[in-house]
Amino acid sequence: MKNSKTLLVIEDEPAIVRFLRSCLGAWNFLEAGTKAIGLQLAAEHRPDVILLDLALPEGGALSFLKVLRQWASAPIILMGSHGQENVQVAGLEAGANDFLVKPFTPQELLTRLQLALRHTDKQGPRLPIYEHRGLRVDLYAHRVWLLNKEVHLSPTQYECLAVLVRHAGRLVTQSQLMKAVWGQTREVTLDALRVFIHELRQKIETDPVKPRCLKTEPGFGYRLELPEKNIFKKSPGVIRTDLSVQSAPH
Ligand code: CA
Repeated sequence: MKNSKTLLVIEDEPAIVRFLRSCLGAWNFLEAGTKAIGLQLAAEHRPDVILLDLALPEGGALSFLKVLRQWASAPIILMGSHGQENVQVAGLEAGANDFLVKPFTPQELLTRLQLALRHTDKQGPRLPIYEHRGLRVDLYAHRVWLLNKEVHLSPTQYECLAVLVRHAGRLVTQSQLMKAVWGQTREVTLDALRVFIHELRQKIETDPVKPRCLKTEPGFGYRLELPEKNIFKKSPGVIRTDLSVQSAPH
């Protein structure tokens, strides 16, 4: 039976890519040799799983992972070598779901992919652009508009909104939100969270008294309403270099 799942591999070593292709004949297979192409393919095809090599010649795999994690909710599996434990942990903390140590067997690979896919089915919409009731959030460009006027949020306000966009339609608990925005270490009271949300609403709601996007679920947390439009637009900032892209026919 043909697997309709799509895998994006961001890896510069042809031998590894060939190995992956040979293991995963049934998958829709996308490959990118650079971070820029990887980002572009992830945005265009919204793969079900992303395999990211930690040793890209251009470097910066971890900061790239963070950028990708801003809006891509697909599971990300890192590929690295022995002796890279610090990077692995940093990668998992930065949002990666799992880790494969090279060299790995086809069986290890398939097991990790199956695990990752179990998470995929529970994910919310994977759209880098949220648009609802006059509010527009572009996780790709890191920008927010209300009624076509750009809104300037503080870093924590943006982070809070980004968390809600990534879980649009789903309830985000008070503690999940506090952890996501302020981290585990900082103590934040529920009152402080309420004030914070109140201030955020002043910026992102057309009528902050009767919020139509950011709803309170009393006693539980907050929910960003599902967008009325499912739109997706390419960021003009990413340049495609077709030479290093190969997309398997299927
Ligand atoms: Ca590599």
